[in-house]
Amino acid sequence: MCLLKRKRKQAVFKHSYRGIPTHACPCGSVLLKVNCIFENGEIALWFTEAECALCGAELTAPTPEDFEDAEI
Ligand SMILES: [Zn+2]
Repeated sequence: MCLLKRKRKQAVFKHSYRGIPTHACPCGSVLLKVNCIFENGEIALWFTEAECALCGAELTAPTPEDFEDAEI
């Protein structure tokens, strides 16, 4: 009988602030990690599932439609 050893995964606690589009993380960082697609040297599409580049918290990246009713 072959026994497989499983590696224990370390529990990593990440804050999750998903659901509210934002330009910044509550930790103060404005640098977000997002997946995107480029076309002709410009960002053509980006996913709204974002992650803070500093603390790793889960965030929702903004889109232009999220702020079209907001007054500037
Ligand atoms: Zn953060």
